[in-house]
Amino acid sequence: MPPGTKRKALHGSARPERKGNNAELRLFFDSKRSAPRNQLSAHLRRFFWQYYERNGRRFPWRRKRTSAFRLLLAETLLKQTNASDVVPVWVSLVRRYPTPATLARAHRASLLRLLEPLGLQRQRCVALTSMARAIVSGFSGGVPRQIDDLLSLPYVGLYSACALASFSHGTRVPIVDANVLRVLSRLTGDDYGRDLRRNQDVWSLAWAILPRKRFAAHNYGLLDFSALVCTTRNPACARCTLRRKCGYGGSRANDPESKLREVVRESEGAI
Ligand code: SF4
Repeated sequence: MPPGTKRKALHGSARPERKGNNAELRLFFDSKRSAPRNQLSAHLRRFFWQYYERNGRRFPWRRKRTSAFRLLLAETLLKQTNASDVVPVWVSLVRRYPTPATLARAHRASLLRLLEPLGLQRQRCVALTSMARAIVSGFSGGVPRQIDDLLSLPYVGLYSACALASFSHGTRVPIVDANVLRVLSRLTGDDYGRDLRRNQDVWSLAWAILPRKRFAAHNYGLLDFSALVCTTRNPACARCTLRRKCGYGGSRANDPESKLREVVRESEGAI
């Protein structure tokens, strides 16, 4: 037996197997080379970080000193859930389980109780504890920095891996989820479909609009703009400063009915 083999096995420090995501990763990095350089992408490289600085939402996990582990917990809780509902549960979670090691040893019943207000507590419990165990056994208890290492963690997909890399590790990468896809589709007037894993065009555009600096603020701005302005059902085109450049909103802003709907929603405090 080669020296060190026994120790590695005993401490369980072998890295976890990569998931079958090579094609997805190749598409992600290849799309950087085909990023379109045009007037719209130049404008958007400034727009979203400025939007975040003026209008961004200030969640506790967005504070500068938030550790990568705490951010990973937030990203896991945010799936299919309103961010405002996540805040109190996230605060309790990071207080009770401040490190991957403490979460890996969590008592199941206590964790289920803590997650109950958000629903889907069984699935979330399995996801959180398996992630924590993989970090402890595969990465000596520290959240990995590389995108492919992040992707090797259970329940971490390309969106979460890029969010962690960008927000916590200072890596210049774009993020694309269903909301970002909607905003970019509307702006360009292109239908990118729904399958992010096979869509090189949307990733190319996401790279093209990513600024050299302030990329984390840009990514947060894109998320917040999609949640507050360019919403799924009633985008606020009439008051959107991008409407003149937008494939979808330019015509919609002149539509009296959609203008009226926006005025009513604003007066009801829905925006
Ligand atoms: S004009 Fe409308 S569709 Fe276009 S980005 Fe603004 S809110 Fe979205």
